[in-house]
Amino acid sequence: MNGRLSRLPGSAPRRAAAKAALSVLARNRPAAVGAIILALIVVIALLTPVLPLLPPDAIDPANRLIPPLNAGRTLGTDQLGRDMLARLLWGARLSLAVGLAATFVAALAGSSIGVCAGYFGRWIDALLMRAIDMLMAFPYVLLALTIVAALGPGLFNAMIAVAVVNIPFFARNLRGSTLGIVHREFIDAARLSGKGDFSILVSEVLPNVAPVIVITMSTTVGWMILETAGLSFLGLGSQPPQADLGSMLGEGRKLLLNAPFVSTIPGAVIFLLVIGVNLVGDGIRDALDPRLRSGAIARPSPVTAISRGRAAVDAGHSQGVLQVRTLSTEFQTAGETYKAVNSVSFAIRNGECLGLVGESGSGKSVTALSLLALVQSPPGTITEGAVLLDGEDVLSKSAAALRFIRGGRASYVFQDPQSTLHPLLTIGEQVAEALRAHQPVSRVKAWDKAVRLLDLVRIPNAKRRAHAFPHELSGGMRQRVGIAMALANHPEVLIADEPTTALDVTVQAQVLKLMNELRMRDSAAVLFITHDFGVASDICDRIAVMYAGQIVEMGAAEDVLERPAHPYTRRLIDCVPALGSGIRSFRAIGGAPPAANRLPSGCAFADRCDFAVAECRARPVGFVAVASNHLARCLHPLEARGERTSA
Ligand code: ADP
Ligand code: MG
Repeated sequence: MNGRLSRLPGSAPRRAAAKAALSVLARNRPAAVGAIILALIVVIALLTPVLPLLPPDAIDPANRLIPPLNAGRTLGTDQLGRDMLARLLWGARLSLAVGLAATFVAALAGSSIGVCAGYFGRWIDALLMRAIDMLMAFPYVLLALTIVAALGPGLFNAMIAVAVVNIPFFARNLRGSTLGIVHREFIDAARLSGKGDFSILVSEVLPNVAPVIVITMSTTVGWMILETAGLSFLGLGSQPPQADLGSMLGEGRKLLLNAPFVSTIPGAVIFLLVIGVNLVGDGIRDALDPRLRSGAIARPSPVTAISRGRAAVDAGHSQGVLQVRTLSTEFQTAGETYKAVNSVSFAIRNGECLGLVGESGSGKSVTALSLLALVQSPPGTITEGAVLLDGEDVLSKSAAALRFIRGGRASYVFQDPQSTLHPLLTIGEQVAEALRAHQPVSRVKAWDKAVRLLDLVRIPNAKRRAHAFPHELSGGMRQRVGIAMALANHPEVLIADEPTTALDVTVQAQVLKLMNELRMRDSAAVLFITHDFGVASDICDRIAVMYAGQIVEMGAAEDVLERPAHPYTRRLIDCVPALGSGIRSFRAIGGAPPAANRLPSGCAFADRCDFAVAECRARPVGFVAVASNHLARCLHPLEARGERTSA
């Protein structure tokens, strides 16, 4: 355990993250425009010393106020006959340099203060932050003027003043983000490994808050250029004959009526420079701040993107209340396509429970979420298939119609009730809310109904407990609340995604029993997702086994469990420990499932299968009926080989 663990992204993911950030930046039009403007200005500023310019400070009274494009002067001359073009380029160079210097000084001082305050806390925090508060108590232009007045006019002093007034932005931002990570486990781990405060600050805290520093810099540098120009405009920054953009504007102001170009040209350059810097700064902020990235530019939509190549599947005759036909869901990230769900079909009748079993990452949750277009989008897209609820295609419904189905005719129970319940609302309020979202009932009636529902799912003393907050309940009770919310509107379809995985075995048994009883009561169709064959055999009528995004075997629960036909199912069952059967060695499945972005063209399990032959890898393997209502995606199913399991 040491700090190296803490630098969350490894080098490859970091490169991917950098690529993603760059692509967000590139897709951001305004930032691209800003980058072009800024790049032009920076290139010209860098080249100024080698360009064939007249000396910027050479006074030539004979040639005063020549308008632009006259007498060989591109931008004319000012009131002392100095060449405007030369002064403008040298001035822009100076303004840019001073603005950047001020930004670096403010970033260095402010970030150090903020990180130390956040990291050390207590009296150090109190002292530093009160000092920052004192800085912030003055309007900052006034403060900058005061500082320059005290230090004396001059560009260097103006730079110091601008830097000082910007220190609080960095200090407060960095203190906040340091506080957010200082109690995380990787900091504790670094401390336990014997690292000192300085070493932790440099190797653990700094890399994690660096993006915040960059974001704050990129969004304040424009201001600082403007503020420096402002001080020069007032005569407190650059002193004659040296000129920056601000002082050129200030000197030209007196001639605004006679020779407007003397002030408007530097004004326009300040405008372009600050606009360019700010557009690029905003782009950098959007690219680096994940909250903004998911917010402003790539906000997940309330409905999964659906791009079904084929015309929507005809309703046809449906074999159950829920029928899923060739459903496919993909994720597109960083130029890769991950086929998470690959042509999945099944049907569930009223009162029936279909178990969806498979190892972690096989696509169970994405299948469940796709049914009501709940997959996050971007990056998810449903590329094919139909989901028929009572014969109507759910995926062609409008967002409003979908919202009415979700939690109404079809509802979910999720794995972790702690993260699905609202921490600030009582459980009674949350169940009542589920009711009121779908039924026109009064607050009082909904509360009564909520209490009855809580009673139904065996929350002891429901009337009093309805006032409890989620954190006051045990895990099992929270999951019962989740079930109560899912059942509130008598759903026709109940989708339970590993509802008992977070619970201990005794509570798990109670919750399963409860779900089973309630399913009978409402005769709801249940899709029960689990990776546990024991649980599946308890509650499911039929079982579908999923592997690498496909259903590889489906049949009645006892058929699949006792006579598995697909070698994968067989190996999964062999991995289940059996109580009371003495010591027995597990045969873990060697290898790993194929990556969802590089699925093989043939059977996805072939590389891990003991019975695979060349034919298995040649082309996609379709379903084979091994018995009536028992299908397996295998060219040589175990049954046909005459094998029997003894488990
Ligand atoms: P499980 O069977 O354990 O529930 P999931 O359905 O959650 O598995 O995931 C199936 C596949 O989809 C995995 O390979 C996972 O990496 C991928 N996946 C899930 N969510 C996303 C996402 N938001 N972005 C990219 N890939 C995802
Ligand atoms: Mg899952």
